[in-house]
This record gives sequence, C-alpha cells and structure tokens, in this order.
Amino acid sequence: MTIAENVAAVRERIAAAAARAGRDPAEIVLVAASKMNDAQRVREAIAAGVDACGENRVQELLEKNAQGAYEGAALHFIGHLQKNKVKYVVGTAALIHGVDSVPLLEAIDRTAAARALVQDVLLEINIAAEPSKSGFAPEQLGAAIEAASRLKSLRVRGLMAVPPICVSGEQNLQYFERMKQLFIDNCEKKYDNVRMDFMSMGMSGDYETAIACGSNMVRIGTAIFGERHYPGK
Ligand SMILES: *Cc1c(COP(=O)(O)O)cnc(C)c1O
Repeated sequence: MTIAENVAAVRERIAAAAARAGRDPAEIVLVAASKMNDAQRVREAIAAGVDACGENRVQELLEKNAQGAYEGAALHFIGHLQKNKVKYVVGTAALIHGVDSVPLLEAIDRTAAARALVQDVLLEINIAAEPSKSGFAPEQLGAAIEAASRLKSLRVRGLMAVPPICVSGEQNLQYFERMKQLFIDNCEKKYDNVRMDFMSMGMSGDYETAIACGSNMVRIGTAIFGERHYPGK
C-alpha cells in the first residue's frame, strides 16, 4: 500500500466512525504522526491530504522543516517538550499538543511574548494515571487552566491524551470516555484565552473508538506510513 492509499483508507474509516457517532467527518483533523519518516514521505502524506503533521522530536522537526517537508500542511508538535527546547518550537509549530506542567506553560508564554506572538497549545492529561507518562492528572486540570488563563501569550485550544498503546481500540474506551467527560466539564468558557476546541486523542490502533467518544483530532502514524523501524530493534 502506498502512503496515498493509506491516507485514503484512514479517511474512509474516519468518515465511517464519524457517521456512526452522528458527527460530520469534516470536523475531524487528521494529523500524520510523521516521526522517523523522511521529508519525502511527509510530502507524500501532505499531497494525499492530511491536515497536519505532528512531530515528536525537536531535532527531527527542525531538520525536516529546513527541508521544506511540511509545506501545505500545519505543523504540530506532539511529543514531550522539554523547557530548554521551547525556543525551537514556539512560533514554528502551529499547535503544541503535549503541554504537561505549569512551568512549561510559563516557558512557552515567555518565549511567545518575546516574539510578539500567541502560541496555541493543548493540555495533556495522563488519563490512565500511568506513572511512566506525563500529563496533568484530571483533578489538576482546573488549576492548570487557571494558571494558563493568566498567561496572555498563549491560548489553550483543548486537551490531549495518550492512553496505553493497544491493539484493539475497545481497550481504551474507558479512558476516552473519561476524556470526553473532562472535556465537557471544562467546555464552559470562563477565560478569553482558554477554549475547548480540540480533543486530540486516537492513534492507529484506536482512533475509531476515540472518534466515538468525541475526538476531533487524531494522530495517526503506523496506519499512514507503515511500521516504524527503531534502530537496534
Ligand atoms: C507516534 C505517535 C502517534 C502515532 O502512533 P501510531 O500508533 O503509529 O498511529 C500518536 N501520538 C503520539 C504522541 C505519538 O508519539
């Protein structure tokens, strides 16, 4: 299967999942999780119509960006962002998905302010309370939103979650349902710079389940590009 065929197949399954949930497929943003795929393969995915490309590693993002890999699509950062790398990502990525601490929010705000721009971010939730994963605990979200509301050079656009890797999406249903509830609970607009526009959840193994639970931004790697081959494995 080519990348174009894979993107078409994913779009079809997104449309079917949206239809089953009584939703408009056009409201679902398809982010190609393009880690470990070179500029040429990223361009193929963009030509096939993905809405955005999501990178995990700052170094890889900068290299491929310098090669013009992302032209024609939005560039998102979907990995774990370290504070000392904020300067490379702010203003380069249209959306930073995995913001997982107040100090990181503050660092993004400072950098964005110095560049006279407003950075869009999503707050990451550690929805399965996994010790190995980053993200705010659901009960910390209120305080995180409040902290973000005071930072005028960033805009919270919604929530993101990375539940456990699974083969069958059903396994993550409980987590997606919790995310949906959290999203709904925080939808009421209290601050100018905090909006619940996006819920970023769903990967190759579980995006249809995520869409059933209200996801409107899915991050798909393997189903578009094929299996990743990690060096040394
Ligand atoms: C790699 C990655 C994805 C895509 O994973 P697949 O299972 O290959 O679709 C999505 N989100 C994040 C944060 C990732 O790192």
